[in-house]
Amino acid sequence: MAIDISPALAHAFALLRNDLYTYLDVTEALATDNAVWRPEDVRSARRVIGDLVEVIRSVVAQHCEDAAGGCRFCHSMYWPCSTIEAVYRVLRDPDREFVRLVQSEPGSW
Ligand SMILES: [Zn+2]
Repeated sequence: MAIDISPALAHAFALLRNDLYTYLDVTEALATDNAVWRPEDVRSARRVIGDLVEVIRSVVAQHCEDAAGGCRFCHSMYWPCSTIEAVYRVLRDPDREFVRLVQSEPGSW
């Protein structure tokens, strides 16, 4: 059920969403740029990997299970909630680098 909000607030939410996507788009462009990485690009990539992991960890940490078996953050009746399911799908996708990295860790599987 959608909450009825004012046009001004809807516009503010759209600006916020676009702002967040801008950060993600610029970060993604670093990885998909076909140019040879300069040392500063490598340094930036290393730092942004840590930043991205922190973003994912903060989302996962917020969507934890409550005593009733639901999600404490989004009040879903069941845990894992749709947010955790979305994170899980990306992290456990065998075509992504996450799985390859984990499988390459000694003793991780
Ligand atoms: Zn949740």
